[in-house]
Amino acid sequence: MNTSDIRYSVVIPVYNEEAVLEQTYRRLKQVMTSTDGPYELIFVNDGSSDRSADLIKKFCDGDRSVKLISFSRNFGHQVAITAGMDYANGSAVVVIDADLQDPPELILDMISKWQEGYEVVYAKRRQRRGETFFKKQTAHLFYRLLRASTDIDIPIDTGDFRLIDRKVCDVLKQCPEKNRYVRGLVSWVGFKQTAVEYDRDPRLAGESKYPLKKMIKLCLDGLTSFSFKPIKLASYAGAVLIALGFVYSIFLALFNVLGSAVLDGWTILLAVELILTGVMLIMMGIMGEYMGRIYDETRNRPLYIVRESYRQEEKERNVMK
Ligand code: UDP
Ligand code: MG
Repeated sequence: MNTSDIRYSVVIPVYNEEAVLEQTYRRLKQVMTSTDGPYELIFVNDGSSDRSADLIKKFCDGDRSVKLISFSRNFGHQVAITAGMDYANGSAVVVIDADLQDPPELILDMISKWQEGYEVVYAKRRQRRGETFFKKQTAHLFYRLLRASTDIDIPIDTGDFRLIDRKVCDVLKQCPEKNRYVRGLVSWVGFKQTAVEYDRDPRLAGESKYPLKKMIKLCLDGLTSFSFKPIKLASYAGAVLIALGFVYSIFLALFNVLGSAVLDGWTILLAVELILTGVMLIMMGIMGEYMGRIYDETRNRPLYIVRESYRQEEKERNVMK
């Protein structure tokens, strides 16, 4: 089969998932053979130290639609997804977890939305089953915090399980930033987006490959990639301190005039201290604004993204390549 004929690419990041891979492959296969087009299953082995790679090679040997990309070490979930998208040939690319927490059958609903003309179809979790109280609460809080701190419409309770059109995939490839928060980037690029809802199942077997450390990294990547609010905090704090300093000075002056308080050295020092610290914080905030802009430049995201261009004379549509 020619790679240009492939309609659907399914990207599956894998990190030590030997316990579930057979099942995952079987269920994906079942779903994908019932679709209307040629497909490929791209397993991205993110430096697994168990038998995951061997199992996937076995699938490859018996099935031409399976591909394996193996990293030299563990680079992380978001990088694994990115690599899968880089290697994908399909007109639509689906990203799905290997642990069957994301039901493969939902891909069919995503495909029908795609055929209606949507360019991004993300899967929104109605509820999460079989996960710890801590995981659910931190995830709940994180999605809301991220949403509150950015102007981009990043949907809440939505992971990386989604279908994207080839156009979107190509645009993502033009975003070379290193500390990636892929689901945020997919929101950032725009295009016609919609959701399909589902209940997230418990992991089929094995343990979560997202320990607290990786969760914090993902959270920070999400916040810093799409929000400058933390940088602005210094300025706000500075403004509050200066205001306090002034109010305090006015009280001191009043008390002095009324003769009801003795002006000690420390009382004046405190007023000066408040105002000076405030000024310094504001200066830090100003530096932060410049840093934010430098950060923006170095991320090298495209300045704008064209969906299509249209010219009257030729009556033809040049859909963005
Ligand atoms: N994963 C990965 N690299 C990592 C961690 C996880 O490729 O460093 C994969 C993992 O194999 C799974 C998906 O990313 O397919 C989601 O991970 P996991 O299910 O452990 O996360 P959780 O569902 O617990 O948030
Ligand atoms: Mg999982």
